[in-house]
Amino acid sequence: MFADNIFLKIIDKTIPAKLAHEDDLCLAFHDIKPQAPVHVLIIPKKVIRTHDAATAADQALLGHLHLVAVKLAKELGLAKGYRLVINCDEHGGQTVPHLHMHLLGGRDMAWPPG
Ligand code: AMP
Repeated sequence: MFADNIFLKIIDKTIPAKLAHEDDLCLAFHDIKPQAPVHVLIIPKKVIRTHDAATAADQALLGHLHLVAVKLAKELGLAKGYRLVINCDEHGGQTVPHLHMHLLGGRDMAWPPG
């Protein structure tokens, strides 16, 4: 089901990405196949395979990802709103085995999602 964990190569800078944010805990970069005018992926540097694999030890880290999303939404001009998405495993449509949050904005979002 999963492709390689290409995000580890982005974290260690062996493949390039258009970075939007980096700190000790996480990295954010523009999606290579954007689904909206703004489409950024926010990923922890710690390897967590899926959202389902997060534990109590990850509580602060997961909160940090959300606060980075708030900061990026401001910086990227998403004053009218945005959508955060975490796809988990097969039914969630996850394709990269490294937990990541999609920050999508710049257009109206449909509901329900596809
Ligand atoms: P998901 O389907 O939730 O696992 O999302 C994976 C996302 O990673 C997709 O939106 C891809 O377009 C994106 N993606 C895959 N490879 C890269 C890459 N090298 N740089 C930026 N985004 C990527």
